[in-house]
Order: sequence, then structure tokens, then C-alpha cells
Amino acid sequence: MSLSFFNTLARDVQAFAPLDPAGKKVGIYCCGPTVYDFAHIGNWRTFVFGDLVHRYLVFKGYAVTHVMNITDVEDKIIRRVRETKITLREFTDQYETAFFDDLKALNCLMPHYTPRATEHIPEIVSLIEKLIARGIAYQATDGSVYFSIEKYRGCGCNYGQLVKLNFDEMRAGERVASDEYDKESLADFALWKKRVPDDGDVFWPSPWGEGRPGWHIECSAMSMKVLGQSFDLHLGGEDLKFPHHEDEIAQSEGATGKPFVKYWLHGAHLLVEGKKMSKSLGNFFTLRDLLAKGFTGREIRYLLLTAYYRATFNFTLDGLTGAKSALARIDECVGKLRALANGTPDSGNSWLITEFTAALDDDLNVSSAWADIFEWVHEMNKRLVDKTLTSSQAAGELAMWNKINSVLGIESVAEAESPAEIVALLETRQAARKSKDFKRSDEIRDELKAKGWVVEDSPKGPKLKKL
Ligand code: AMP
Ligand code: ZN
Repeated sequence: MSLSFFNTLARDVQAFAPLDPAGKKVGIYCCGPTVYDFAHIGNWRTFVFGDLVHRYLVFKGYAVTHVMNITDVEDKIIRRVRETKITLREFTDQYETAFFDDLKALNCLMPHYTPRATEHIPEIVSLIEKLIARGIAYQATDGSVYFSIEKYRGCGCNYGQLVKLNFDEMRAGERVASDEYDKESLADFALWKKRVPDDGDVFWPSPWGEGRPGWHIECSAMSMKVLGQSFDLHLGGEDLKFPHHEDEIAQSEGATGKPFVKYWLHGAHLLVEGKKMSKSLGNFFTLRDLLAKGFTGREIRYLLLTAYYRATFNFTLDGLTGAKSALARIDECVGKLRALANGTPDSGNSWLITEFTAALDDDLNVSSAWADIFEWVHEMNKRLVDKTLTSSQAAGELAMWNKINSVLGIESVAEAESPAEIVALLETRQAARKSKDFKRSDEIRDELKAKGWVVEDSPKGPKLKKL
């Protein structure tokens, strides 16, 4: 089976074939954070999903360019800036920095490009100029510039590619100025919003007077600037299908006359304890809230990655506690494999990599992959006890596990920070301590010291520190 994705555009699972004639380069655009607050755990489900797509395409041998924009000007931000009385940049900077810190805490690969909307005003203006020149956009009497759905459809273009829309009740020329609206308020939407007193200092000059861009045009301008007029994959949470992504398609295809995106992937939402997250219900968590409760980024990442991305996921604190023990099971098994392998060259392949690839090729079915992984852990533990695993076989299993980890990104902290040889020595020392061979364990401690590492024993287990 080859790699396939559920493409919202086709409402079906489709085999993945990049636009690149050489079949090598792949462009991904994932709608990034609106930096008006700390990202919550629901947002993180979507961003970790974006990271999974990125990592899996690299695993499959593609040359990936991952773009994630920073929405640093839109309605909600302007409202907050007005309340806080600091400048737009001061306001958004704090949440942008927090976002990148959180991204690191969750071990997400840094996207190759993270463009800010406020640094793309010329590109946005030029895109709007193209739409006006093609007769698809117009400046209304309120001074703002709108996208005309009627004119766009009149050119034979299709509005409603991602969602089914009812045009019967839509009155031509009716307009919606806000960035967010629902399908019932289907109307011409704002591309450039004329400056109003409430905008304070947030405005830029343009051919239509001072103002600021609408949210949707920002993503069209930034994605096409980095990835070209047509690119492979566009990702986001399911709530973005309408109007945001539908409007992105209309603006981009309206301006270029070319298909905008080949595959649209939408992640289902995350619920907390079975309910929609809300501050009033007390079930609203930012990543920081969870870290403050003592959970690690690794545990949170693991939990977010246990569910198939198109299934609604119920996030619970009990689930996070479960994540801790699931990871401990994996760590213990990998630790023993490493102690047995002890630097031996690896031999052969493991069945797990074949099953893992088959599961992820099938629209990133991680749930099925986890079932395989825990079956593997069970089998490895049994073979370790039965002593039916040679050192080189253990090394082979470990090499395969590292490849899988390049996709899952849940390597243990010791693995991430210390060389494999040092980690292996630590694990051998642990095994010696367990079997009360303290002479051997002391020898290994000295050996580690000679190599520049100290072991600190703590109630949570041993920790490696560089001398
Ligand atoms: P925002 O910062 O509000 O623009 O959202 C950033 C991303 O998080 C978007 O792709 C949203 O679709 C996504 N998102 C928002 N709420 C949730 C949720 N509860 N579960 C999953 N993704 C979400
Ligand atoms: Zn977007």
C-alpha cells in the first residue's frame, strides 16, 4: 500500500503523489497560532498532528518544506491590544515566544518557515490588487475591500470546495466584515479593512487608504509566497474549513487561476473530560497548565499522538497518567535491549517497521501503529526473559526503534541528551544494581566518570549529568 491521506477536497482517501514532477519535494502549509494568548491543548493537538505529517513525509524520503504562519494581526488581537494598551508587537511577541517554547517542549520539529502576517503587508496588498484587477474584489462604500463571491462564481470558479454551501439565501453584495462567521452568514468577506478608531495604532497604508488585512488573505499571501501558487498539503483543525480555508482557496485561485492546494487535511477537535474546552467549565488547559501539574512535554506529546487525527479525542488527566506508565513500559524494554546490544553491530530487520509503515501509510493511522508497538514490547520482553535474543538482534530492533522514533519523537530524555554509548553503560549499571552486583555497578560508575558523565540516583531513577 502506498501513502494515502483523507483529502477534504475529495471527501475521500487518496493516494499521495506530490506535485513535484520528480516526486521528491513536498510543500506543507499549516495554519499557525493566532498569538493573542497561550496556545491551549486543543491547538496543540493540531500542531502535533502537523509535526507528525512533516516527520512521516521525511521518513518516507520526501524533501519537505514545512511552513507555519504566525497570525499576528486579526480581530481578536486588536481587541486585546486595545485592552492592554501596549503596542501590537509587544503584545504578540510574548505569545509568539511562548508558542515556540511550547513547540520545543512538545519536541515538534521547527517548521522551515514561520512567516508573520505583519511582515507580509506588501504581498497581501498585491494579492488584493490582482483580485480587483480581475473584477473579483471591490472597495465598498464603507472604505473596506471585499471579495465578491458572485463575481468569483461568475468566472466559473467554485466557492464551496471544502464544505457544502447553500447559496439560495445569499444576497449578492451582502458583506461580512469580521474574520470569523458561520455558514449561515455566507456573504462577501473582507480582504482589507478600513482603519477605524478602535484599531488604535494598528494600520498600514494601502491603495485603498489606511487599514489592515483580513485574516484569510494573510494565509493566501504567505503560503503562496513560500510554496508557490500551487502546493501539496494544507493542514489545520476542522473548524478552519469554513470560512477560513474556503476563503483561502477563493482568494488564491481567484488571483492566480490555478489550483491552490492538492490535499487538504483537517484534524478533528479535542475535548477535555468529554466536553468542549471552556474557561468557565474549568477544563481549559494550556500546555503550561499541564507542565505545572508535573506532566512532561513528552507525556503530553505521547497522549496527543495516541489518537487517529480524524477522530475526536477526549483528553483527560487520567489519560496523561496512563501516558506516564505506557512510556515507562517502552523505556524499560528499550533500556534492556540497549544493555543487551551494548554497541554490537545490528543484524536484520524487525517486523515492527513493516507494520508501522503500513499503519501510517493508511491516512496516518497511529492508533493501529501503537497496537503494533505494544505487541512488539510484549514480544521483546518475553524474548529477553527467555534469552532468545542475541546482542546483534537486539541492536537490530533498536536501530528500527530509532527510525520509528524519528516519526513519533518520543525518545526518552536520556536518549535525546546523552550519547547512545553512555546511555547503554547507564543501563548496564542499572541491571547490575538490580541483581545486587554492586562491585560491577561501581565499576561502571567509574567508567562513566572517566568518560565525563556522573550518575545521580534519585527516587525517580538515575540521571546522567555531564561533568
Ligand atoms: P488559532 O490559534 O485559534 O488560530 O488555532 C490554531 C489551530 O488550532 C487551528 O488549526 C485550529 O483549528 C486548532 N484548534 C482550535 N481549537 C481546537 C481544538 N479544541 N482541538 C483541536 N484543534 C483546535
Ligand atoms: Zn490560515
